[in-house]
Amino acid sequence: MSDENDRQKILIVDDEPADVRVIYELLRNDYEVFFAVTGEKALAMAESEQIDLILLDIMMPGMDGYEICRRLKGAHRTKDIPVIFITAKITEKDEVRGFDLGAVDYITKPISPTIVRARVKSHIQLKLYRDILENLSATDGLTGIPNRRRFDEFLEAEWRRSVRSGSYLSMLMIDIDFFKPYNDHYGHLAGDECLKQIGRALTKTVKRSADLMARYGGEEFACILPETNSVGATVVGGKLRDRVATLGIIHEYSSIAGHVTISLGVATMIPLINLLPMSLVRAADELLYQAKRNGRNRLVTRDFS
Ligand code: GH3
Ligand code: MG
Ligand code: MG
Repeated sequence: MSDENDRQKILIVDDEPADVRVIYELLRNDYEVFFAVTGEKALAMAESEQIDLILLDIMMPGMDGYEICRRLKGAHRTKDIPVIFITAKITEKDEVRGFDLGAVDYITKPISPTIVRARVKSHIQLKLYRDILENLSATDGLTGIPNRRRFDEFLEAEWRRSVRSGSYLSMLMIDIDFFKPYNDHYGHLAGDECLKQIGRALTKTVKRSADLMARYGGEEFACILPETNSVGATVVGGKLRDRVATLGIIHEYSSIAGHVTISLGVATMIPLINLLPMSLVRAADELLYQAKRNGRNRLVTRDFS
């Protein structure tokens, strides 16, 4: 029923190969199963593989299960992965400690196949529903692209990352020209259709997987380009402008063209720790308004780095 790509991913962390094998055999038909025999490998895998559920042995040499769990819950990329502890014997004190660390459940050894399958299934279901909700709440209902909420989260994360690495961060603020007259003359439904088409075109034009194009609000879109300098961001901005023009959406009430056009503000910074992400948004917004004042259907770029 499910193929490799939509199967959910489970990570088994246990230093005992025989135990890993037993659990692996139980789950391999229904899930994509990974395993790690040390805490370090487990943490690395949880970071890189988009794991949906972790089965974690408590007693391990070196970093034990509690410590691994503590680190998983402390890291942004792994904190939401549900963890089930697997353990040979358990006192109430151990159990409380695990739940305090953020575990969702316990399974005791020797392993009962039915219990493992049932618990795993129920937690995997919950994770799936949570992901669906998370996705919905980050998506713009009209255009189907990331919304403002997602944009803010993404900018925050990329800002922090760029502060650490000292790399460029570029942002484009994009606004449709004369969109009010478009709505007034062609109607709100046509306006919505236009927004969808433009959202799609903008998203397709921004190709690197690290980039994000979002609907910022109304007829404004915003784009984040990590590790991109001013020259690169300007090239992308030019492509976006051309792509929208090429759509050729008829606009007889635009004062600058016979079709729908966009204006863009393109700002680049090397984020500093004492600045807020909002400063990049403000800069891009200010440049957008310059583009409007200068006649629209153009971009204004500024390098703040
Ligand atoms: P400018 O060239 O200076 O950007 O002028 P404009 O007319 O595009 O700008 P203004 O901000 O005055 O108008 C924005 C319009 O966008 C207002 C509203 O009619 C339209 N709009 C905003 N959100 C939506 C939406 O979700 N659907 C539709 N159909 N129209 C929207
Ligand atoms: Mg506008
Ligand atoms: Mg506007």
